[in-house]
Amino acid sequence: MSVQRSVSVRNEVGLRGEPPLPTRPPHTRTPARQDVPGFAAAPAAGPTGAGPTGAGAAAVILRTVLDHGPVARTAIGRATGLSPAAVSRQTAGLISLGLLRELPASSLSPRAGRPHVPLDVDTRRHLACGVHIAVPFVTFSVVDLRGQVVARERQPREGDATTVLQMIIRHLPGFLARHAGGSRVLGLGVVTGGRVDPELGLVVEHEPLDWRDVPVRDVLAAAIGLPVYVDGHARALAQAEILFGDPRARRSLLHLFVGNVADAAFATDGSVHIGPNSAAGGIAHLRLADSDALCRCGRSGCVQATLSERTLLRRAVGEGIISRPDLQDLLAAALADDRRAVALFRDRLRVVGRLIALLVDMMDPEIVVLTEAATLFLPALRADLYAEISAHSRVCTEPERMVLPSSFGPDVLAVAAGATVLDAVHRSPHSLPADPPAPRPAPAAPAAATRRPAAPLARRGN
Ligand SMILES: [Zn+2]
Repeated sequence: MSVQRSVSVRNEVGLRGEPPLPTRPPHTRTPARQDVPGFAAAPAAGPTGAGPTGAGAAAVILRTVLDHGPVARTAIGRATGLSPAAVSRQTAGLISLGLLRELPASSLSPRAGRPHVPLDVDTRRHLACGVHIAVPFVTFSVVDLRGQVVARERQPREGDATTVLQMIIRHLPGFLARHAGGSRVLGLGVVTGGRVDPELGLVVEHEPLDWRDVPVRDVLAAAIGLPVYVDGHARALAQAEILFGDPRARRSLLHLFVGNVADAAFATDGSVHIGPNSAAGGIAHLRLADSDALCRCGRSGCVQATLSERTLLRRAVGEGIISRPDLQDLLAAALADDRRAVALFRDRLRVVGRLIALLVDMMDPEIVVLTEAATLFLPALRADLYAEISAHSRVCTEPERMVLPSSFGPDVLAVAAGATVLDAVHRSPHSLPADPPAPRPAPAAPAAATRRPAAPLARRGN
């Protein structure tokens, strides 16, 4: 499955002979300036009374080129409301940072006069590195500024938190040497499931891994010499959908991740809610009315206990569909039309549908994005998901339009890992260091402490 992108439809605002500015797909609201992540934080208007200023203007322009590029400066001005002088100044800054580049004028030349030089996001100079920590494996990735996966590798996830972080520290320099040579690596994003505190860079709790208060950022930043961003994978993927997915995600979004963990994230106006306890989206122990699955918390019927891959695979092995608890084996059986395997995925998806109905009725998001194996790899089963949502939701009348699979297909974990770094760059382009430090070679790995840092930083309010 390829990454969904904004599509070019027609030229509504371009003057005759000027480069076209692609518009949004039908049925979606035309993006207003306040849709742009980072815009709300910028001053409302510059001295000319036109558009945001400073860092906010740079983020708005980068966002516009991300959506519509290659695009001429005149079209950027119309889309953002910025004056020609502001567009010229800000684009020059973004070009000097290596975030935008000028393309040959021929592709967007007007009929006469001075040629329009199209601008596009420069994907050649900067990369984000990511590490996604899951129960069975750790995914390493490098992604470009458009969220395209340049490379990825997998390592088995074995041992406790200290062992895993040591493995990452050992593996990372070689991985970057193989796949990021010649580019500047802007930072390392580390994402995982469960409860994660992005301000402290701390995995507060990941039940299937048995991690508690693991200071991932401090351990990795000290060892690898790159800025390290740590977040929950449901929130990171929500950020990625806001940047690169369906434009409606910028209005309001519910993202649901169902794997070995069950996590949600929700966002409004381009901002993912974290909560004062970093616990927003923690749906693992919500109770489902029609489930009696025993949970590690001591109760039964919890979302995670009911929906986790561990539960799914235990049933599959118990029913003799597969011989070992491996999701790829069960997917292969379903793809080979093993009706029992298909039924297991369908049953789980129906429960997911009832959960989505519950969450949608509470939050009324513009769209829901679901990251779940059957939704991605067995698309015929989506009809069962939609039917269940329709049957149980009071507000969702068109689940086919409202509930989407992840924009990133099989790349979803690799994109999730890099998304936190990309989000930081796109929100605040001028935070880019002038000369980012090169990652250090692998040192002797320090032990990963498993306690909360003594002096917590202030938590982010949102
Ligand atoms: Zn529970």
